[in-house]
Amino acid sequence: MSVLRVLHLSKAFGGVHAVENVSFEVGEGEFLALIGPNGAGKSTCFNMINGQLAPDAGDIEFAGRSIAGWKPRDIWRLGVGRTFQVAATFGSMTVAENVQMALKMALVSHHGEIFRFGAAFAARHRERAVELLAQVGMADAAERACKELAYGDVKRVELAIALANEPRLLLMDEPTAGMAPRERNDLIGLVKRLVIERRISVLFTEHSMDVVFAHADRIIVLARGVMIAEGDAKVIRDNPQVQQVYLGTGRTFTPHVEGRV
Ligand code: ADP
Ligand code: MG
Repeated sequence: MSVLRVLHLSKAFGGVHAVENVSFEVGEGEFLALIGPNGAGKSTCFNMINGQLAPDAGDIEFAGRSIAGWKPRDIWRLGVGRTFQVAATFGSMTVAENVQMALKMALVSHHGEIFRFGAAFAARHRERAVELLAQVGMADAAERACKELAYGDVKRVELAIALANEPRLLLMDEPTAGMAPRERNDLIGLVKRLVIERRISVLFTEHSMDVVFAHADRIIVLARGVMIAEGDAKVIRDNPQVQQVYLGTGRTFTPHVEGRV
């Protein structure tokens, strides 16, 4: 069963057809990579799915309901999560406080629970926050200020924050941007494990083809706003059109793609 269905989605900016007639589905518990060269329309797709941009045409169905053109907050509330930057905004708070804040926001949003700062309430959130941090391998850093963390660790905290809302679908637009290849592989591997354990679905973009081929259940390739291929690692690796788009020569993906961040 599909959790997300994207149907004939289009979006243009002036004369630029950023996304044109794109259709795909994300299955329950699926780890789906959306790839393509810079300017292919990946972020525009993400931004329409999470409500930051309204599509010009087409539809987006989440859990059987049309959400095209909804506000980001309403889409988030339905269970579509996304990673967002914590470093800039809440850098002076500790790692645990950041996750506790996300847990409170989720409660208020879903149950209309009013902010209460009683000891029992705080302890319950604290426990849950540390649990989430443990799942992303960051429990030991609970008391550290977010701004002191290494870049890769901030990304793990962002993931814990996104999980606090218990999303059914998690959208990750370049979660490993700026990371070294080894760190990329570790983070995407971690997300993949969480997908399996928590039975959530993930749609992500990632520049390293090695990482995509190693972890994605299925891969969708966009080029200039148009979907050009869909399939597993082998199908995508062997697809001449995909090779053409990435290199123009049909050689291996890796050296070219690793270099761009
Ligand atoms: P990707 O994420 O795959 O690199 P984008 O979705 O960011 O690609 O961009 C797709 C195309 O749409 C590009 O040509 C880009 O320049 C254009 N584009 C994206 N956002 C805007 C915008 N807000 N205004 C104008 N053009 C945009
Ligand atoms: Mg992008």
